[in-house]
Amino acid sequence: LVIPDWSKFCKEIENIYKHCKTISDGKVASYIPQLARLDPNSWGVAICSVDGQCASWGDDQKPFCIQSVANVFSYSLAASELGGEYVHKYVGQEPSGRLHDAIFLDSHGKPHNPIINSGAILVSSMIQHQKDLADRYDYVLNRFKKVAGNDFIGFNNSVYLSEREKADRNLALSYFMKENKCFPNKISDLTEVLDFYYQLCSIEANCESLAVMAATLANGGVCPITEERCFGSRACRDVLTLMNSCGMYDYSGQFSFHVGLPAKSSASGVIMIVIPNLLGIVLWSPPLDEQRNSARGIKFCQKLIERFNFHNYDSL
Ligand code: GLU
Repeated sequence: LVIPDWSKFCKEIENIYKHCKTISDGKVASYIPQLARLDPNSWGVAICSVDGQCASWGDDQKPFCIQSVANVFSYSLAASELGGEYVHKYVGQEPSGRLHDAIFLDSHGKPHNPIINSGAILVSSMIQHQKDLADRYDYVLNRFKKVAGNDFIGFNNSVYLSEREKADRNLALSYFMKENKCFPNKISDLTEVLDFYYQLCSIEANCESLAVMAATLANGGVCPITEERCFGSRACRDVLTLMNSCGMYDYSGQFSFHVGLPAKSSASGVIMIVIPNLLGIVLWSPPLDEQRNSARGIKFCQKLIERFNFHNYDSL
């Protein structure tokens, strides 16, 4: 077992969970009404080890949209299937240093990285691009379910409709990319590209199922529950590297400094953390801090690193 005294470890995680429950900082995202209506008191934590030991606390089964955490998995999927070299002909590996949806490309005219809006829109346009939208959606949903070891994966149609309604920024970004010839494949209709991207953002998970997805990444692409290979190990290495430098919005550098673990957060208040070869961790609490990361989630990470030597360079 990678964590021999599992119940002792769980007790420690539970203490951090309880400590963070008392925090009431942050504001729920409000760019669409469906997010604004999220209960600020929701607080769930789940862990899953690379050998399939799982535990969870609080609102661990309440569904939430994974939002931009989907970017991590669409990149992993695209890179596993098309090869990282192909994908990175069109998208960089650099933190943008700007807001996640800034209308801005790197000096080569490419999106900075695949896990901010521009890069994620681009990468999702590559996935099974020759198929029609319904088949592409089914394909991704089924693949995500496998990554989650057949645990809960859903879809929130009202979030999807709302994202579509409020599409101006992403549409502007997509036109800007089209103008700069960023897309590898012929794009006849940008609204279709964005529809697919919004569908991926509107996919639901809960803490438990997303922790399995995180553990699949921690395990080099093999789901620890079903032992099925979901992503190539190279794609996993690459996505974790990107999460390490670009996963936490404009707090990515500080997170990497203080916590030292690959992570991705999103507008619904989820933070997914990967401890390679050990553990997937999911924290979900909707109120966000100034950098748009879950306030309780960030506190949890600080406490985790105070208590355990999980920081990348703690072994020095
Ligand atoms: N669907 C959101 C957007 O495209 C993603 C928000 C997020 O999680 O950062 O703006």
